[in-house]
Amino acid sequence: MYSYFRGGEFRKEYDRLNELRSVFPEKTAFVALTATATQAMRTEIMKKLQMIRSDTCTVSLLPDRPNVIYYMQKSSKKKEELNWLLNDLKTNGKSSKKTIVYCRNIMSCADLYEHFCNEIEQGSDLEKRMVAMFHRSTADTNKTHVLSQFPCYDTSLRVIFATIAFGMGVDIPDIERVIHWGAPRGLEQYSQESGRAGRDGRESVSCIYYSGYDIAKNRCKESVRDFCTTTKCLRMQLTSHFQLDDIASPSSGTRSSQPTSLCRCCSNCKVNCVCGNCFSFNDENNSNDLLSKDDFLLGQFCGFLNEAVRENLLDYYEFLVEEGEGRHLLFNKSMIETVVENADFIFSEDDIVSLGLIDHNLAGDILELIAEVQD
Ligand SMILES: [Zn+2]
Ligand SMILES: [Zn+2]
Repeated sequence: MYSYFRGGEFRKEYDRLNELRSVFPEKTAFVALTATATQAMRTEIMKKLQMIRSDTCTVSLLPDRPNVIYYMQKSSKKKEELNWLLNDLKTNGKSSKKTIVYCRNIMSCADLYEHFCNEIEQGSDLEKRMVAMFHRSTADTNKTHVLSQFPCYDTSLRVIFATIAFGMGVDIPDIERVIHWGAPRGLEQYSQESGRAGRDGRESVSCIYYSGYDIAKNRCKESVRDFCTTTKCLRMQLTSHFQLDDIASPSSGTRSSQPTSLCRCCSNCKVNCVCGNCFSFNDENNSNDLLSKDDFLLGQFCGFLNEAVRENLLDYYEFLVEEGEGRHLLFNKSMIETVVENADFIFSEDDIVSLGLIDHNLAGDILELIAEVQD
């Protein structure tokens, strides 16, 4: 029997799989297979399928990928933060590394894609394209192109901007970088998506760019917030999430091999690396120091700062009214309150847009008005 358990929930139909037990002879063996499951999921699966613990043997492999280097990057989600990738494409063209950039929504996917297309000559020839998008609304011809081309060894396609829609059922052995533009929704999903890097065993990178807003309370799972903010080894943190309590832990020898140096493990281990030739997947000069100050502390506006933000925004609102172009309708007073309430977690234009303000120009102005108070 094959059961499919995905995204933390059983499909409705699978809820009834246990009924098969009344059809088959009592001694029939049942096998349940799943790609990633936490302890809690396993308990749920066993319950639903009426598997008795004492009669059940669990075989599991922790999703540890020694050839994948994990990076965590605090980010303000400015497109320029990916200029190292753009430069790689410009310099190395078809020989730059295959990369998937996972975005949290179609809008940020399209935003990055447009930025890259503006910077590199794509041409009209589909076959020669270096970057592509892949999401629910991608046109079928483009989808087919990506799915048929990206797995090829000598394809021109180097970077795919994708939402979660990409990857199900596609096996591409030579992807060397998986970038998450925004914190992942869950560690199960992250484990699968980052696991698309280095399938053929080559050294690969998985990097998360997360903003304070991505991991704000009520916006993400506790486990994701812990993962993003931990100072411990990211690899250990990730594998321990999938640790089943009655099966040996990675530190007790189930790990098949170890990265060769601390800097080839993860960005947290790298801090302690003394190899003298530390691994870096991007140009570090270019990596942002926009948030090098601790933005969480910095973001803790006290009451009077909130008041100052409100003042600034109300002034701006008056300005929009006087301007007479109707833009004040987009940024009305309830929107102002929403922005003030969330000021602690606003670090980029996108953060403001995701609060429901659709106009990017306005969002840019508002970001400046908040920053004014912060300084
Ligand atoms: Zn590590
Ligand atoms: Zn090193």
